[in-house]
Amino acid sequence: MSPPAGETRGGFGAAADRAPCGLVEIDAAGLVCAANQEFLQWVGRPPEAVFGHDLAQLLSPAGRVFWLTHLAPQLRLTGQLDEISLPLPDARGGVRRCLLSARRLAASEGATLVLLDAGRRHRVEDGQARLEALARMRAHWLGQIERMAEVGAWSWDPVRRVFDASKQVLRLLDLPPQAALGLPDVLDRLASGPQKARLGRLFAEPEALCAPLDFEAAILTPEGHSRQIRIYCEALWEKGRVARVQGVLADVSRAHHDRQRLWQLAHLDEVTGLANRQWFRSRLAEACAEDRDLALLLVDLPDFGVLVDDYGEERADAMLREVGERLAARMPAEGLAARLSGEEFALLVPMEAAKARSDTPDGLAQRLAAEVLAALRVPLAQSGAAVQLRASIGMSTRPVDAREAEALWGRAKVALSEVKRAGRGGAAFLRGATLAAAEARRAALATVREADREGRIEAWYQPKIRLSDGRVTSYEALARIRGANGGVSGPGDWWDAFDDPDCAALIDAAVLRRVLADLSGAGAHLGKVAVNVSDHSLRRADFVPDLLTRITSAGLAPAQIELEIVETALVGQRTEDLIAAFARLRAAGVTIALDDFGTGFASLTHLRDLPVDRIKIDKSFVLGVAAQGRNGPILRAIMDLARGLSLATVAEGVETEEAAGLLLDLGCDEAQGFRFGRPQPLVQIGGGTREHLPGHAGDSAKSVTAVIGAETH
Ligand code: C2E
Ligand code: CA
Ligand code: CA
Repeated sequence: MSPPAGETRGGFGAAADRAPCGLVEIDAAGLVCAANQEFLQWVGRPPEAVFGHDLAQLLSPAGRVFWLTHLAPQLRLTGQLDEISLPLPDARGGVRRCLLSARRLAASEGATLVLLDAGRRHRVEDGQARLEALARMRAHWLGQIERMAEVGAWSWDPVRRVFDASKQVLRLLDLPPQAALGLPDVLDRLASGPQKARLGRLFAEPEALCAPLDFEAAILTPEGHSRQIRIYCEALWEKGRVARVQGVLADVSRAHHDRQRLWQLAHLDEVTGLANRQWFRSRLAEACAEDRDLALLLVDLPDFGVLVDDYGEERADAMLREVGERLAARMPAEGLAARLSGEEFALLVPMEAAKARSDTPDGLAQRLAAEVLAALRVPLAQSGAAVQLRASIGMSTRPVDAREAEALWGRAKVALSEVKRAGRGGAAFLRGATLAAAEARRAALATVREADREGRIEAWYQPKIRLSDGRVTSYEALARIRGANGGVSGPGDWWDAFDDPDCAALIDAAVLRRVLADLSGAGAHLGKVAVNVSDHSLRRADFVPDLLTRITSAGLAPAQIELEIVETALVGQRTEDLIAAFARLRAAGVTIALDDFGTGFASLTHLRDLPVDRIKIDKSFVLGVAAQGRNGPILRAIMDLARGLSLATVAEGVETEEAAGLLLDLGCDEAQGFRFGRPQPLVQIGGGTREHLPGHAGDSAKSVTAVIGAETH
């Protein structure tokens, strides 16, 4: 309804004046009856030049024609105009482009016109378009970021029970981009049951999700690819309830693979894929800390070293793998098999594994050891079924042998070395006789090491006499240890020390030092001394030059030293190396005696190949020579052999006059034994000229009345 002319003329009121558009009302004749301030400003005319005037006159010439010929008739006809572009002259003489909309007023036949500034409108539209472009760009970026980071975004609406996911989620799950993804599809991919249950719970009861959830899970795609994904999500709360669970899903397979690889490098043995030493030791420590009953087995394959030489490293590695597989196959699920190093393996089984069979830890260890020994006896396929392995196994159980990991390990280790020492293979605990033997060995090593540190290793001397005239020709130096309390012990008390390379070398070196010092000092009258050399000393590359240097540095002649070498010390050494070493020593003047002759299994080959001066007939042939009838012919044969090879002979263990006489008759050159003198410290051996011992076999009376010295140990 049109307002009365008096009220409307001049304006529509304050609110209309503030509107950001031009408002005009015309009557049926097209005369302006009202206009707001905005319109008056646009046309730059005072109210009196507008009100009551024909609207057409206020337009530009082109606009006027358009209005009169098109717009006004259309308005009359249809009752409305919508956003029609109309130029309006503005106050500065320019043109304002307007969008005109109009409605005819039914009552007055007049009309209300709304004019929008098209420029301003465009500006708004531009801004909107820019925002839309930005949003599109952002969505695109997000897609790119999702693809690059292999992250997919998803959300769950618990009210509408709708699961929404980005394309990347579909890609991660190996689903086509247009696939309709439901919640069960996602859950079904999760490989692990507990994780499936966890996510299922979250979707069923999102209110329970108080803190963000962040975890990794393995998934299996429809193509059968396994992938590691990380799921992170949080609940968005609205009015006291969860309106949405929003999350991302990232493919962390690569990082997971790298992590796995690092873990493997740190925990597994590269060749066999079993646990490595460090991991095994830490698992052992953990199991002990958890106070579990355990069986520990250390497995060694003593013959394996030869296989590397025979088959090459690659095949040997394949054989180690085969061994690893056999060991692992014997392990219960809670057990751990490891390769410690080289051909040493270890097995750890917690008792839970055996409880079901009402086994004890000992029973479990023994059963497992028997299985392992049997499994390794089956020829290795990798060797073309040519190699059958012998295993040595050291066992210990918790709590029987020890409670602490270190002690448990130590018991199994020593048990293993005892089994290896016995040389027959098999399995043993370190208990009873084995424990006593190991204890004795440990004590022997400790005694020798301590004595060496404190300079208590001494050389005692035992004379060798020429049987034909009873004169002392030389002495043998024998190691003795003076105890802290002044007592003296001999090799029989610390025999095991000779089995240890370091200790044997310590003894040899200490005795040699004493001999050289004695010979160049108070013991000069000894003339010539024989020292015993263990195979460990002989193996040292610098043994010969070192010995010769020591002799000459002491101001002595090499001819004053003889080396006594037992045949067993020659076994396993390269004959060419030995020949070269012996030749060099002899060229310098050092003489060499083959000790304990007749007891070694390769005596004749050594005699044939090695340049030596003398053979020392082992005392086992001499001690019972009179009583044991078969010793006579053996001694005779040895004498003949020596004569044929132009070697001198010394018989040891000559305790009786009878034996001395017999040896003289057989043509033996020299003798050594209690009959002529026991090993004694230097101070008890008379100085000056070499003694002529009473009672030597060449004495006319053939009765021996005196024996020098008497060993006290
Ligand atoms: P061996 O080299 O055969 O030394 C001779 C052993 O026979 C010595 O025992 C000696 O005391 C003993 N003996 C000497 N005369 C008689 C006798 O008439 N009857 C009997 N029943 N025994 C006699 P010992 O001193 O106890 O030495 C034992 C072994 O220890 C030596 O046997 C030698 O193999 C080793 N040994 C001693 N000192 C050294 C050393 O400095 N270095 C090395 N590598 N071995 C040593
Ligand atoms: Ca000897
Ligand atoms: Ca001997």
